[in-house]
Amino acid sequence: MTQDFDVDLFVIGGGSGGVRAARIAAGYGARVQLAEEYRVGGTCVIRGCVPKKLMVYAGRFRDEFEDAAGFGWTVAEPRFDWRVLKARRDAEVGRLEGIYGTNLGKAGVAIVPERAVIEDAHTVRLVTSGRRVRAKVILVAVGAHPVKLPEVPGCELAITSNEVFDLETMPERILVVGGGYIAVEFAGVFAALGARTTLAHRGDRLLRGFDDEIRDALDEAYAKRMDLRLGTSVERLERVAGGLAVTLSDGTTLEVDQVLYATGRRPKVEGLGLDAVGITLDGAGAIPVDAFSQTRVPSIYAVGDVTNRAALTPIAIREGHAFADTVFGDRSWAVDHDLIPTAVFSTPEIGVVGHNESTARERYGKIDVYRSSFRPMKATLSGRDEKVLMKVIVDCASDRVVGVHILGHDAGEIIQAVGIAVTMGATKADFDRTIAVHPTAGEELVTMRTPVVTKRPEGVG
Ligand code: NDP
Repeated sequence: MTQDFDVDLFVIGGGSGGVRAARIAAGYGARVQLAEEYRVGGTCVIRGCVPKKLMVYAGRFRDEFEDAAGFGWTVAEPRFDWRVLKARRDAEVGRLEGIYGTNLGKAGVAIVPERAVIEDAHTVRLVTSGRRVRAKVILVAVGAHPVKLPEVPGCELAITSNEVFDLETMPERILVVGGGYIAVEFAGVFAALGARTTLAHRGDRLLRGFDDEIRDALDEAYAKRMDLRLGTSVERLERVAGGLAVTLSDGTTLEVDQVLYATGRRPKVEGLGLDAVGITLDGAGAIPVDAFSQTRVPSIYAVGDVTNRAALTPIAIREGHAFADTVFGDRSWAVDHDLIPTAVFSTPEIGVVGHNESTARERYGKIDVYRSSFRPMKATLSGRDEKVLMKVIVDCASDRVVGVHILGHDAGEIIQAVGIAVTMGATKADFDRTIAVHPTAGEELVTMRTPVVTKRPEGVG
């Protein structure tokens, strides 16, 4: 690498994508600095996936305590202490943050604990110290931040998924607004922890973009667990003596202790200096990049949520890795964004890989849909009113499995394993010749023999 620069790589943002890129590039011998203005680990570790999942675990004990009775256990009246969970969760997040920092250090990456902005194609300015760093390559990995809705009067009274982790006490009554991943996950957590929870979503079903039958099953399950208001928007928030008064579009008012807005996230590009180098944002406010994460400025790359390709931690990590291999490791490869296994940590949980029924029909024309809906074995003794739903979608022409959808316990764990087969191009015949593991819920995936739907577009035989 040339000596004209202070560093070979300057990474802006110490989240999943930036950290992976920095470590891999440093492993190739690049001189790397990484600026993080908040806490190393980024959204996923500090105020996203990790602390959220710990809260999901906390909530699920409620079902376990209740279910235990059906198996002969007598459990004393369970009590939940928010402060204990928060303290232990925060300590774990702090531990992980430390590990991230240590691993960067071990890899030879210098952490710069301040905000960095772009001045030109090879220069970043550190805002607090005023120092400038000349870099051969700049990687923007600043992620995204939650949006509130400015058009709703009183929306400044609400919190987002950033502040939810800071709450010192559990709200006894909470309204969650939105119908995407974050709204669904947090509404599930608060309801399970014992808060009186209302989930208000403007659409007629939760989780737009997911398979319709999975959405229906989740709506049904959530309506039993909380006050679910579909087709409902917030019109106004006001502070009142007992908390917050919320006026909803269905004409009702609610009084709650907190309102959590989860109505999407936007790339965090404000004031980053992109204008200075002529990088214009796309319609979603994201940085446009090519398959190799390169922007229109050849020395500036971007990975992760700031590019809005698929706003998921494993994708940011993969993009960061591909970038470092390509630019510093002389091993050029691009991330395939086509087939992404994903999970929603609602209760019941959802795991998905590939197409849903309607996108599969559009893409392949003739598809077979296999469906299994059943009461899980544990529910027979616990008496819990729940069901598991599994769908396997097959392209008739190739016999390839092009979509698997699961709603039920451990769906995320199951879909990770099934995702390998689907990524490898497994056919329905491959599923069929796989020996079932009995008795499990997952065995349904390899024992579905008859399609419930054979979808052919009009006029196709
Ligand atoms: P999503 O984009 O998933 O969902 C946003 C929700 O807000 C949608 O239901 C949308 O409704 C609704 N909405 C948007 N604008 C408005 C509005 N003006 N008024 C009322 N409702 C509105 O965003 P999230 O914030 O839930 O999550 C952001 C991203 O984070 C996700 O896309 C996902 O990629 C990632 N994530 C992944 C997780 C995981 O892997 N388990 C967990 C958490 C986040 P509509 O459908 O009608 O547009």
